[in-house]
Amino acid sequence: VKLGDTLLYVNNISKSFDGFKALNNLSLTVNAGELRCIIGANGAGKSTMMDVITGKTKPDEGTVIFGNDIDLLKMDEPAIAKIGIGRKFQKPTVFPNHTVWENLELAMEADKGVFATLFAKMSGAQKDKLEQTIELIGLKEQPNYPAGALSHGQKQWLEIGMLLMQNPKLLLVDEPVAGMTPQEIDKTAALLNSLADEHHHSVVVVEHDMEFVRSIARKVTVLHEGSVLAENNMDAIQANEDVRRVYLGE
Ligand code: ADP
Ligand code: MG
Repeated sequence: VKLGDTLLYVNNISKSFDGFKALNNLSLTVNAGELRCIIGANGAGKSTMMDVITGKTKPDEGTVIFGNDIDLLKMDEPAIAKIGIGRKFQKPTVFPNHTVWENLELAMEADKGVFATLFAKMSGAQKDKLEQTIELIGLKEQPNYPAGALSHGQKQWLEIGMLLMQNPKLLLVDEPVAGMTPQEIDKTAALLNSLADEHHHSVVVVEHDMEFVRSIARKVTVLHEGSVLAENNMDAIQANEDVRRVYLGE
């Protein structure tokens, strides 16, 4: 898939829980190299949509295609992770007793196990990648810090770095700035912007913080009652009457 081509094609997915439609004919297309924000009130279906993309939940109907022709609905969750769809949940899950450097090293060799990884010698290319990543996430001054001693924001960046070590083709990030200080929020925006603009990563971010969304998003998708209510740039979204009515409560 080339930059700008369709990377993720979600078409008409629906999912009911006990007769309640959490997703209702939801369709969404994400292009390679895009940084997309998904917003919507609580219960709009954002997490369920992420669950469907990552294989945690199977929809009742619809299509989810990745790349040119990979049918994600035929694959289970580990297989989907393996083809390069990385998900970051809201809470950071780093190895608290290992250093920043070791966490990145462990993420790169996720299959191998802790001892095998930490005692193996890294290749030059692996070391280069680790050095680039630790700089990108703003932790190059703290390689020997135990991850458990980092601030909340630094843990979130480390976890994004750990996903990057696995060379993801698509990154899904759930509420990255929840609980961060304003300075950490600014740094997170810079990190995500750099991932898309300089490193050509494809990223989907679910987020509530509107100012943050404005600072990163080129295109915003608004979910409401399991469907796409609007999709546009932030200015158009904030001026959209449907959005103002149902999401901003006007
Ligand atoms: P969001 O992430 O946008 O807040 P969710 O996707 O978590 O929304 O939830 C959408 C709706 O589906 C909610 O009303 C939620 O209660 C319901 N729902 C989600 N998962 C389940 C489940 N496993 N069982 C029952 N209801 C669920
Ligand atoms: Mg949610």
